[in-house]
Amino acid sequence: MKQHVAIIGAGVAGLATAARLAVKGYSVSIYEQNSKPGGKLGLLKLNGYTWDTGPSLFTQPHLLQQLFTDCGKDIGNYLHYKILAINTRYFYEDGTLLISYKNRLQLGPEIKAKLDIDPDDLFKFLDEIKEMYAHIGSIFLNQPIHSLCTWWGKPIVTALRKVKLPYLFSSMHQYHVRSLRHPKLVQLFDRFATYNGSNPYSAPAVLCMIAHLEMNEGAYYPAGGMISIADALYNLCKDLGVSFHFDTLVQKIEKCKHSVTGITTANGTIPADIVVSNSDVYFTYKNLLGDGKKAQKIKQQERSSSAVIFYWGINRSLKQLGLHNIFFAEDYKAEFNAIFNTHQVYHDPTVYVNITCKMEASHAPDGCENWFVLVNTPDERYITSEDITAIRKNIIDKLTRILGKNIEPYITNEEVLSPDLIAKQTSSYLGALYGTASNNKIAAFLRHSNVSSAYRNLFFAGGTVHPGGGIPLCLRSAKLVADAIEK
Ligand SMILES: Cc1cc2nc3c(=O)[nH]c(=O)nc-3n(C[C@H](O)[C@H](O)[C@H](O)COP(=O)(O)OP(=O)(O)OC[C@H]3O[C@@H](n4cnc5c(N)ncnc54)[C@H](O)[C@@H]3O)c2cc1C
Repeated sequence: MKQHVAIIGAGVAGLATAARLAVKGYSVSIYEQNSKPGGKLGLLKLNGYTWDTGPSLFTQPHLLQQLFTDCGKDIGNYLHYKILAINTRYFYEDGTLLISYKNRLQLGPEIKAKLDIDPDDLFKFLDEIKEMYAHIGSIFLNQPIHSLCTWWGKPIVTALRKVKLPYLFSSMHQYHVRSLRHPKLVQLFDRFATYNGSNPYSAPAVLCMIAHLEMNEGAYYPAGGMISIADALYNLCKDLGVSFHFDTLVQKIEKCKHSVTGITTANGTIPADIVVSNSDVYFTYKNLLGDGKKAQKIKQQERSSSAVIFYWGINRSLKQLGLHNIFFAEDYKAEFNAIFNTHQVYHDPTVYVNITCKMEASHAPDGCENWFVLVNTPDERYITSEDITAIRKNIIDKLTRILGKNIEPYITNEEVLSPDLIAKQTSSYLGALYGTASNNKIAAFLRHSNVSSAYRNLFFAGGTVHPGGGIPLCLRSAKLVADAIEK
């Protein structure tokens, strides 16, 4: 008899876990409260415009490639993607536009021309974070760090040898100042803290390695947009025989002593030999397991930042913009202080504008553009509808100032995603984008394990558990869960 695995949630990690288990011969069912797969990876179509609603940056496609290979499938039959020549265009208040080229032969002259500094310091730093990632990152991200076995053996000894004290005792920002010196470059690299929803002024310097993924390995664009990643995973699962139950809220995980025995939905109880929760770990304990004590413990960990996103139909094309564009706050420290400490809307936010029609003309009507405009914010408790009006005005003021033209009259279509909607649509506690923040030295170690310590056949996959949020880490968490189940 095949063992039955019930997976709660069809986010990236839920789908990837399902595929990995189905190919190993388990009978896998996914229960998803929404009517479609993907979780935070969503799609919005309106009046000829198409927007990806959640993630917009795709890195480390080799993890997806590996998943398909491990499942005996050719990814080329499911997903196409290409590397970007330009990672991001960075706009500063003083009018500087710095283009982050993938290729160092182009990046070097750009740094020299725009910042008037020798790019060698930057290249030295990029080599350092590459090594940091190879030795420390890969151990931490690919291993079950809550298991004692991980902490024995040669790789961990090598990794520990590579840890320099400043990696732990300096903040990302301090380390960037020391290594990169130029304020504009420091700000550019500080921004990578937001890739896991953290604050560069308090996150440990070891997180400087996040930049390696984009700056050394490169950013990619999946044909069709980010939704193609969810579609590819969904089609892979279907081809491997995973059964899907959409519009099905899981209300409870059934348990008996030290085992879980199934899940309960409005249609009754479904027995399962193994349960994997891709739901936010806080809600898994609070609502599904009814373990208020454990939920309370998880609640105490600081959440990652949330965001307000405007999906704008723009009735013209702006040539100076590309796929990924950043308009930096003048005082970055004050902006992070507002997000994480005083929980306020900051008047001069860093604005991220993603325009996929630059890659795919069909995403906007002729001569128009589909702007995805995001600012990081405190969580849902602190963002009111008046705040969203204020954020919209702050964004328009900023873009108008830097682009030198009033963009408000160009906006012909608008939809908004706010922290409360992020929380509601994907059951993400407080609307956090990436689970818990990494704003102190031990935060990463406090992130919940992929394996339950109370129930022998309960597992956790997704952005709120080890190794963390973002698509690449969710894919890794799926592998860790599948490996743990096999063990
Ligand atoms: C606006 C935004 C921008 C982002 N940008 C990026 C980016 O550029 N690059 C990047 O890599 N990452 C980005 N992220 C983060 C990334 O989207 C997430 O880390 C990742 O998608 C989370 O996947 P997950 O597997 O944890 O599941 P989620 O996407 O959190 O999905 C969980 C699923 O479980 C379902 N569920 C929960 N509880 C239940 C229940 N009780 N019963 C049934 N179903 C349930 C939910 O409906 C949901 O579908 C962004 C996120 C957001 C919101």
